[in-house]
Amino acid sequence: MSKIKSVRTRVWNWTGPTVPPTGNFCTNASDALRDSGDAMSSFRFHQWLTCEVETDDGTIGIGNAALAPTVVKKAIDDWYAPMVIGEDPFDYAHVWEMMYRRSHAWGRKGIGMTAISAIDIAIWDLMGKLAGKPVFKLLGGRTKERIPVYYSKLYAGPIEAMQAEAEVAMKNGYQAFKSRFGYGPKDGMAGMRENLKRVEAVREVIGYDRDLMLEAYMGWNLDYTRRMLPKLEKYEPRWLEEPVIAEDVDGYAKLNMGPIPISGGEHEFGLIGCADLLRRGAVSVLQYDTNRVGGITAAQKINAVAEAFQVPVIPHAGQMHNFHLTMANVNCPISEYFPVFDVEVGNELFYYIFKGDPDAVDGFLQLDDDLPGLGIEITHEHIRNFEIME
Ligand code: MG
Repeated sequence: MSKIKSVRTRVWNWTGPTVPPTGNFCTNASDALRDSGDAMSSFRFHQWLTCEVETDDGTIGIGNAALAPTVVKKAIDDWYAPMVIGEDPFDYAHVWEMMYRRSHAWGRKGIGMTAISAIDIAIWDLMGKLAGKPVFKLLGGRTKERIPVYYSKLYAGPIEAMQAEAEVAMKNGYQAFKSRFGYGPKDGMAGMRENLKRVEAVREVIGYDRDLMLEAYMGWNLDYTRRMLPKLEKYEPRWLEEPVIAEDVDGYAKLNMGPIPISGGEHEFGLIGCADLLRRGAVSVLQYDTNRVGGITAAQKINAVAEAFQVPVIPHAGQMHNFHLTMANVNCPISEYFPVFDVEVGNELFYYIFKGDPDAVDGFLQLDDDLPGLGIEITHEHIRNFEIME
């Protein structure tokens, strides 16, 4: 039996070059603030947390978190790490419950659940490595020959630039695309027209035989979304993502009664939080992020509940912890995929900290049947561009 002997957390703070944000890059929840200024500052993040859980035989499982990494680090170091040391990683369900129940008063959502997620992902990587199996083989195995992915970028900008980007993505074989809205309630009717022009422009390039997903990243509100939905219908979006703030579950439920499927869940936490979204009909597509929702242990339970509601699960962001779940579940039809680019929003950092994430080829990803664990390693290839907080 292996026992957990240490938990090491590091915050990777990117100090390398970044692509400067443009004005109407993507709406977000901060747009509603007075003098929102650089509203994108709450959307961008240039830090990532790695969490390495080591057993007494020297095997190391790798977990990670991208939400408020310095605060999550503190929560792991001070609270959760001492709890899991000495435990058998294969007792993962009990380890999870311990972390969850002993921090229930403050930790069941937000920072606490993100910390639990990072440790839980590391434990699953460990179990895979100790068992000599890829994680998806421990979760149900292969349900797809390959994982279809959707191209997730197309931030709002000059129309010609968005069209050129869509053109390149299409040539690279993608069959589904997600673009972002740049305008919200503050921008009135003129902004609505700017939004619609961009949807139309992207559709012009990709046609109507490919999927188009639309993302507002909580930058709209109920009233604004109600007025936008009928105007968007003719563009046949596969879904409209996070139109309102994550906590407005009633808002989601009301919007989700119309012909355009509403998606969300990347800012929801835990089994009970996600079950609530499903029970209230708030989302037609559930998009938890494994490194926030409670790790693979919670994600797998949520997958079962979502399947019972016949709501597909398409986890937020790419990355191995999401890909393995997608591979192992029939009800996860496709993965989000952030193409490798220069550091812009922060999602890209994953490619600079880890190696092993598969590249999309012709719009599909593949996972290795023989690579134990999650199949990623921490790389020091770009370490000169990071300041590391241990
Ligand atoms: Mg999103």
